[in-house]
Amino acid sequence: MQDIPRDDAEWRTRLNPIQYHVLREGGTEPAFSGALWDRHDPGVYRCAGCAVELFRSDDKFDSGSGWPSFVSPAEVAAVTTHEDRSHGMVRAEVRCAACGGHLGHVFPDGPGPEGLRYCINSAALEVDEE
Ligand code: FE
Repeated sequence: MQDIPRDDAEWRTRLNPIQYHVLREGGTEPAFSGALWDRHDPGVYRCAGCAVELFRSDDKFDSGSGWPSFVSPAEVAAVTTHEDRSHGMVRAEVRCAACGGHLGHVFPDGPGPEGLRYCINSAALEVDEE
């Protein structure tokens, strides 16, 4: 994990504009626009804000949504969830537990045994190729 920036100015230095919009402003990249929704090679997906491991390719699946989708985080404690009542919906927001960055949302319609779909912005992630 990298040091966590102390203030907004440091975050703006570390992140590019779309990374900043997603991670620090809770933004959402347009569907099918990111670099990782159609990536299916092995790899470890890290937080683009602090580099902590968040997701693994073994848990990634093609949801058809246009965003990287996972059945679970790499470790339960890697992410936190928060009720999000914006845009007239009640959703569960997913954040990086280490730096608090917004990652995406989790929905109860996933294909795995836990029935969850972690719908994550490509801009919130960086990949270690394996
Ligand atoms: Fe983070």
